[in-house]
Amino acid sequence: MEPQKQSLSSIEEALIICRRSFVAVGVFSFFINILMLTPMFYMINVFDKAVGSGSMSTLTSLALLAVFLYVILALLEWVRSHVLIHIASRLDLLLAPRIYELCFSSESGLIDAKGVGSQPLTDLNGLRQFMAGSTCAVIFDLPWIPLFLLMMFFFHPALALVALVCIALLAAIAVGNQRSTTNSLKKANEMAGSISSRTQRNLRNAEVAAAMGMMTQLTRRWREKQDQMLQVQSQASSVAGGYGAVTKTLTTAMQSAAITTGAVLAIYQEISPGVMIGAALLLGKTLQPIQQAVSGWGSFVTARDQYQRLNDLLSTFSDQKSKMPLPAIKGQLSAKNAFVVPPGGKLPTLRDISLNLPAGATTMVLGPSAAGKSTLIRALLGLWPTAQGDIRIDGAEAKNFDRDEIGPQVGYLPQDIELFDGSISDNIARFGELDPDLVVQAAQDAGIHEMVLGLPDGYDTVITGIRGLLSPGQRQRIALARALYGRPRLLVLDEPNSNLDEAGERALSRAIETMKVAGASILMVSHRQGAMPLVDFLIILEAGEITRQGPRDAVIAQIQAAQKQANQQIHPHPPNKATGVPKIKAVNNPEQ
Ligand code: ADP
Repeated sequence: MEPQKQSLSSIEEALIICRRSFVAVGVFSFFINILMLTPMFYMINVFDKAVGSGSMSTLTSLALLAVFLYVILALLEWVRSHVLIHIASRLDLLLAPRIYELCFSSESGLIDAKGVGSQPLTDLNGLRQFMAGSTCAVIFDLPWIPLFLLMMFFFHPALALVALVCIALLAAIAVGNQRSTTNSLKKANEMAGSISSRTQRNLRNAEVAAAMGMMTQLTRRWREKQDQMLQVQSQASSVAGGYGAVTKTLTTAMQSAAITTGAVLAIYQEISPGVMIGAALLLGKTLQPIQQAVSGWGSFVTARDQYQRLNDLLSTFSDQKSKMPLPAIKGQLSAKNAFVVPPGGKLPTLRDISLNLPAGATTMVLGPSAAGKSTLIRALLGLWPTAQGDIRIDGAEAKNFDRDEIGPQVGYLPQDIELFDGSISDNIARFGELDPDLVVQAAQDAGIHEMVLGLPDGYDTVITGIRGLLSPGQRQRIALARALYGRPRLLVLDEPNSNLDEAGERALSRAIETMKVAGASILMVSHRQGAMPLVDFLIILEAGEITRQGPRDAVIAQIQAAQKQANQQIHPHPPNKATGVPKIKAVNNPEQ
């Protein structure tokens, strides 16, 4: 099967693509339901023809015919389930890539659907299993009920009336079941989803939990939530179970009602004894899908919720790819009166940001913790949108770029270093097509080539999980190599030296120098000033606002003057109260 190229904005679109398969399922369902009448016709003919005439040969022919029809029925059932499995896999193929992408976009802040985590993928899995399962097939059996009723009518109108009453009774039970269980089943499903995402997040901090003996408390909290969910779920399930049991018993009892009606009609010679038994079997067949629908109601509710959530996600965040063709970027960054609110947040954490950094410049952002430095980086990269004003790369709004196009031209080292499950070379090459020369070049630029060669399988060493054989410093430097891969035009480093030792710092400075010579635009947040000699521009960010910016030496001179003034005023305490940024020394420019 060819993977789907186009991106869909609703499940309906995917279902429309599968319409021919659905028509096939409908046609198979028609023949299956007709063949389901075999036991009834067999019964009528055995009673009225074979037993009535005492003919063994008629009985043998009837039995052979019945066996043949049962074989066809089994084959049709098998093919129908196969087509449903095919539809389910096709839906997955059509929707999974977009949903996978949306999960990532939501976590990175590209779209404002915070907190969905991997739930959409779990939903899609559930929906796929539902479609491939036997409960879904019931939907295709329900439409044939009128056909059976009509047949009943031909046997005798009184039998059709009994069948109608039975259907009405079961339908009323089905509605009661739906009313009393749907909401609680939905709530239980939501609670189970939130417990599972919370557990996933907590598992990431397993080491901290183990080291500080937090397991008992975490288990207690999880248990409380789990108990609440189980309570809601078991209440709903027991109510649904009750309805299921009543439906099942009634269905059986209703067959006796049909036999009784048939017997009365047979006594008055309105119908034959064979038709009497056949009518009971036919009623059983007519009621079967309703009974199955009531017992499988939980699966219907779950599948409907999954469908709804996925549809909402897909239609809210319809594909925004190929917004504009992107020429090779130069890396000029600008912002004009930009306000940025983190996705899901209410207040802006960056206010009235205006800046203009020429292509090829190296800029350092300084500021106290929580000043908004990482937010500025995310906004400049177009990951977080501006609430007001605009942010541009090479004069075009950052948020309008196709991430697949701009991504390879950008190197980004975030504060929380996350490497992906895969080999070191896969990680450095960003999981794209491996170009060994570029991988080695990036590793050399980041100063880790020798370190990687010293690992058990060199570049093929597989990194799994969040911990493992690499120290945080090594992980940071592999992440730096990933950022440097292909010598991108725009390099953005958020605290690139937070885990580095002196050798690492020196390697980082060399990497920045290499990139600078290659003409890249570099933007970095750092508290240490090892790379200061390479910096062209300084931006000082405090409480979400830029307080100073400009060429490095001019800004340093301003800060020093402010510090001096503050020292004179608040004697004898010297430090940086006036700026809120680390004390900055003048720099001897290496180029001078
Ligand atoms: P810095 O990098 O300077 O330490 P950040 O940019 O990480 O600061 O954070 C700036 C402010 O934005 C902080 O007050 C922080 O609480 C808030 N913030 C950061 N990320 C988010 C987020 N995802 N949702 C809501 N608020 C956030």
